[in-house]
Amino acid sequence: MGITYNCWHGCHRKSEGCLHCYVYRRDLSIGVDSNIVYKTKSFDLPIRKDRHGNYKYPGGTHFDMCFSSDFFIEEADEWRIDVLNMIRERSDCEFFCITKRPERIAACIPDLKSYDNLTVYCTMENQKRFDERAPIYLDLDLKKKGVMMEPMLERIDFSGYYDRIDLIAIGGESGEDARLLDFEWVKETRKQCLEHGVDFYFHQTGARIKVNGRIYEIPRNNQHSQARKAFKD
Ligand code: SF4
Repeated sequence: MGITYNCWHGCHRKSEGCLHCYVYRRDLSIGVDSNIVYKTKSFDLPIRKDRHGNYKYPGGTHFDMCFSSDFFIEEADEWRIDVLNMIRERSDCEFFCITKRPERIAACIPDLKSYDNLTVYCTMENQKRFDERAPIYLDLDLKKKGVMMEPMLERIDFSGYYDRIDLIAIGGESGEDARLLDFEWVKETRKQCLEHGVDFYFHQTGARIKVNGRIYEIPRNNQHSQARKAFKD
């Protein structure tokens, strides 16, 4: 069972990949300032119990954290320890998050290695951010290291790092002003991953993708399914 767990909401744009952040787009449409970071009503979700005293979410639940913020954002420093305690308490569940702030991970969770049920992936949208974040992220004591290129904004050279990465995932950008994903970048990365024994995942096409020199507009509902089909034999 997978469930979205947004323990806090709000974020600050960090780099080029944030330009069309869906949190900002959605908040704007309802008049909310995304820069204000606050604890949500779901904060204690993993440890909520039913009237019989059992956890509402059973063992084996996969909590996808912070999809409307960044788990390592500064404003959450005083709240994060409570979430980490919940992660410890729910050692029968898995917790997952993606960050653009790998430089804060070690300070925020000094005993990172002791959280067996916490997976942290890092997102890096272009070569500049890969060169900046990968050396920091890949040095961390994490059981699994996943690099998310979403939105992938340009061709990226991963050479020298493949033996330290478990997974590379690629996705395009969504929304009206989506920047283009070139399918050549996706194919090249996949080829390199296969050669180096790194898991590869084409998550979604984004709204605009170039294939064989032609640009396709992909409706939101088809972006994941089109990516699934891309490498089917
Ligand atoms: S780090 Fe993520 S949530 Fe925060 S502004 Fe950037 S894209 Fe949005």
